[in-house]
Amino acid sequence: MKDFLNVLGKVFLDTDFLNFKKISIHEHYRSGGNIESFIWAMRILNIEKAVFLPTDWPPYNPIFKNHLYRLFDFKKKFGERIIIFTTCYSGDTTAAEFIEETIKNGAQGIKFIDWFYSEKTKNFIADINSENMYKVYEVANKYQVPVLLHIDFHKNNKFLNQFEEIAKKFSTVNFILAHYASCILDEKVSLSLCEYLLSKYSNVFIDISSGYGIKKYMTIVEFNKDMFRNFLIKFQDKILWAADIVIDDDPQKNFLWFVKRIILDLSILQKEYYQDILFASKEYYEGLALPVDVLKKIYYNNAKAILKL
Ligand SMILES: [Zn+2]
Repeated sequence: MKDFLNVLGKVFLDTDFLNFKKISIHEHYRSGGNIESFIWAMRILNIEKAVFLPTDWPPYNPIFKNHLYRLFDFKKKFGERIIIFTTCYSGDTTAAEFIEETIKNGAQGIKFIDWFYSEKTKNFIADINSENMYKVYEVANKYQVPVLLHIDFHKNNKFLNQFEEIAKKFSTVNFILAHYASCILDEKVSLSLCEYLLSKYSNVFIDISSGYGIKKYMTIVEFNKDMFRNFLIKFQDKILWAADIVIDDDPQKNFLWFVKRIILDLSILQKEYYQDILFASKEYYEGLALPVDVLKKIYYNNAKAILKL
């Protein structure tokens, strides 16, 4: 109860979190997850809409259809608050047909998660510029929906060449690269690849979600504050906000957990100093305290434009 009052106090007394309308571009739903509680957290925190991804475990995305069909049920109940991105396994030769059918049924974007590179997963990894994927991008172009890709560029150079090929070839499709294009949570923190891609291609965007890596992200941001702040201000028209929460059957993920997790995310961007409300540490971290106009774009305007809302 004390925790509950603390958290609600944080939300309603510290109106910084409520002042900005938000659209999240990247949250996950897996069947069995408590989406109702997440929707309540959205209502409380002024998150107007969220993109829910039905992707399953990478790299080959095994039971995404279960998650996707549940999301279509939820959309009937919660309407416009839920935005569904459809998915498939990139190595599936019928991927484009499935993607097209689900867009016709109401999906508003596409997500692929199949490029997690490691020795163990390498046999599952299809090329980004394969014949299958070309057909998928053609569908994206036909319906003018964005394509969200999670790619570890730094694990294998060929992905960067392949991605640049498709970004050029499908210049009228908007591509969103997840998690700062996977540039920051590795050994070396650098935004130079993000800068390169965002400067060169008008149809390339990034989301700044950190998901399970949030604890590490907080420290990385603190130690590289100017680098992040300058980057986000410079590319304010090409950055999209999301928390990358996986709504699954983990019992700790209840309403309060969602609210705390999202507040922590917002604190990094909005506060000069903040405490870690999720892991309840007393320590203060340095945040980015981004300008209001930049926050408005990152939280809302950019997503609204890219989703054509
Ligand atoms: Zn994710």
